[in-house]
Amino acid sequence: MNDYLTILATLKSANIDRAAMEARLLLEEFQGRDEALAIALNRRISGEPLSRILGHQEFWSLRFDLSPDTLDPRQDTETLVEAALERFTGNPPKRILDIGTGTGCILISLLHEWPETLGVGTDLSAGAIEMARKNAVRNGVAGRAEFLQTSWAQNITGKFDLILSNPPYIPSEVIPNLATSVKEFDPILALDGGADGLDAYRAILTEMKNLLSPGGYALFEIGFDQATSMPRLVEEYGATLSRLVPDLTGIPRVVECQMGIS
Ligand code: GLN
Repeated sequence: MNDYLTILATLKSANIDRAAMEARLLLEEFQGRDEALAIALNRRISGEPLSRILGHQEFWSLRFDLSPDTLDPRQDTETLVEAALERFTGNPPKRILDIGTGTGCILISLLHEWPETLGVGTDLSAGAIEMARKNAVRNGVAGRAEFLQTSWAQNITGKFDLILSNPPYIPSEVIPNLATSVKEFDPILALDGGADGLDAYRAILTEMKNLLSPGGYALFEIGFDQATSMPRLVEEYGATLSRLVPDLTGIPRVVECQMGIS
């Protein structure tokens, strides 16, 4: 009944794009548990993303567990990790901070690449912090990662050579128009960037001044249409834009800046 071909046909009839791969992943996850598999298949054809059903997602070739409190890590965000690695080639940062860490995917991927680096991740959501801690353990970096439940970087002390964030950046009024797979399954807290989508950046740029080491860098993921508005904000807050990095489709996706350099 729950064999590969039946699952494949069910997924295809629901117009699911990568039906063959999804059928394989579902079978792998729910092997020998027919009832659980049938429930999972139903959830999938009702529009729930596969990663939510499996409870995990791959990012930077590592596995990250998800919960309703965490954004589902996106491939676009690998641009942020790549840009950070590129910036610190041959000279890894000593201490890094990821603001609004969610699953911890950005911080954990970078700690995985830089074996001597120490990291701090923050999130307003207690559930996200708990998940990020588990993901740090799973990926072998827990000894160098600290996670704190706080608003942006409140109560964070010391200096960081690198500050990263993929904060909520969707304008509030756009949220009802997002795809069902996003608006019904990703936490609103991780999406809603206020009236113009830039509220989180304002908060972070304000706090960043005291946290960035001299010569340090801050890297932010931005929305597809924020390549003008976000760099303008950076300058307004007394920081200096150093790079705009495109994602794989050529859309500017990462804003890199420094403090006090003109
Ligand atoms: N990249 C996410 C999306 O639009 C948004 C995440 C965010 O606001 N940081 O699907």
